[in-house]
Amino acid sequence: MSINLSNNYQALGESFSQQTLPAPVAQPSLLLWNEPLAKALTIPFTKDNDGELLAQYFSGNQLIKGSKPVAQAYSGHQFGHFNPQLGDGRAHLLGDIADTLGQRWDIQLKGSGVSNFSRQGDGRCALGPALREYIMSEAMYALGVPTTRCLAVVTTGENVYRERPYDGAVVTRVATSHIRVGTFQYFAARGDTDSLKKLTNYAINRHFPELIPTSSEGTSDNSDGNKANNEISSQQVLEFFSAVLSKQIPLVLSWLRVGFIHGVMNTDNTAISGETIDYGPCAMMNAYHPETVFSSIDRNSRYAFGKQISIMQWNMTRLAETLLPLVDSDEDDAVEKIEPLLTQFHQDLQQGYLTMMAAKLGIDEPAVGDGKLINDLITLMKEQKLDYTQTFTALTASLTDSLNGSPIEKPLTDVLNEWLPRWNTRIEPFKTAAHQLMMSTNPVVIPRNHHVEALLDSCQETGDLTALTKFLAVLRQPYTEITDTKNYQDGPVDGDKNYHTYCGT
Ligand code: AMP
Ligand code: MG
Repeated sequence: MSINLSNNYQALGESFSQQTLPAPVAQPSLLLWNEPLAKALTIPFTKDNDGELLAQYFSGNQLIKGSKPVAQAYSGHQFGHFNPQLGDGRAHLLGDIADTLGQRWDIQLKGSGVSNFSRQGDGRCALGPALREYIMSEAMYALGVPTTRCLAVVTTGENVYRERPYDGAVVTRVATSHIRVGTFQYFAARGDTDSLKKLTNYAINRHFPELIPTSSEGTSDNSDGNKANNEISSQQVLEFFSAVLSKQIPLVLSWLRVGFIHGVMNTDNTAISGETIDYGPCAMMNAYHPETVFSSIDRNSRYAFGKQISIMQWNMTRLAETLLPLVDSDEDDAVEKIEPLLTQFHQDLQQGYLTMMAAKLGIDEPAVGDGKLINDLITLMKEQKLDYTQTFTALTASLTDSLNGSPIEKPLTDVLNEWLPRWNTRIEPFKTAAHQLMMSTNPVVIPRNHHVEALLDSCQETGDLTALTKFLAVLRQPYTEITDTKNYQDGPVDGDKNYHTYCGT
């Protein structure tokens, strides 16, 4: 029995990462093990049978055979300011593994000790943020949002010091890769065009193999992503960029669909694979307002709920800048070639937003006038502080029971009194299909901040996982009301007005 790790990223060479071992912890103990994910990754161990071994592996105390741990190098724009030297300051990439479908996944420990990239940090992670990442990423996965996932949370038996001591933990993150916009920026900032080409070829191999030219048409042999492959055509780079853009559209639109606020959309937290990465200060919106922000460090509301589309465009423009030397040696010509892709991205996002919001109202193909129908609703929601999830759940439910529906109740009927008949008239010809579409678009439950926080508190105080297990069972079926769902659908009494999230540092 073994875990079949490869070291594809490690093979890119020294400029991409630092070889460094996880720092052992005092008393590793397996708290959470994601059985379904482990199965999908063909990992043949279970919590019941192999808990101790898994605690050793996923604390970093014992190396999995074949693993060559590294800390990955990257830069990043943090809140709009460029930091050329970030990198994994508390994470170790152990290697990558193929799932049952052949898709490769990075296995990364977080909280596993310092590296050359740690700066002032201690390389550690507190249990609260580790549990939060586990809960949030599982919820997002079930909601159909592209996301990194958590395989394990291991407690360390050590304290982590923030403003006070907390229990320490190591969380294992799984992602189709950990290549960030900031990874490209790292080499661009150093003028290292060779490494940029190598990285682009690697990223194409890993994420977009369909872009690899067949030998008859191609100029380069990309068959092995680990070859020092420094050939790449301008056309391939443009196609690669376009493919990266197309991954970000479902990502950011599904955040907007479910009310997710990432909270720290720095370019080092933007994966080119289009997976949600970094669950540090994220939160869910209750009452609809585009300016909703919970992150304590986001003082200018740069990463507010309603700014996420434009920030994603900003981040992709930063990625475009790193690719310019690969597109054309003449910078103006390179800009001219890449700019239309960004313009198209902008249009696709606008159209995608309309389509997504229309789907929330049961409309499959938005027509003239639907933009106004949507805008009028969200304006009312904003003015009347209506709960985002509950409002769409109520609209969806109004179409059930052989389409007689569970009637929308006061005060919602009063607030929407002029709007509801317009919507009903619009969907009347296809009510059954509208209902189906709404059921799969509008979750009945999301990981609300006050429930997540209450669970984190109780888990940390008592170590008892019963309540967490119940919550996860509900979150894993976010489009179906099961017995316990009703316990988690309420909004916070105070509207979360004093709720603040923090980066996991
Ligand atoms: P994040 O806020 O998690 O996106 O992290 C930003 C940067 O700070 C990354 O380079 C992290 O590796 C680094 N970092 C965050 N927390 C720590 C820590 N406790 N020790 C060392 N580095 C850290
Ligand atoms: Mg980060």
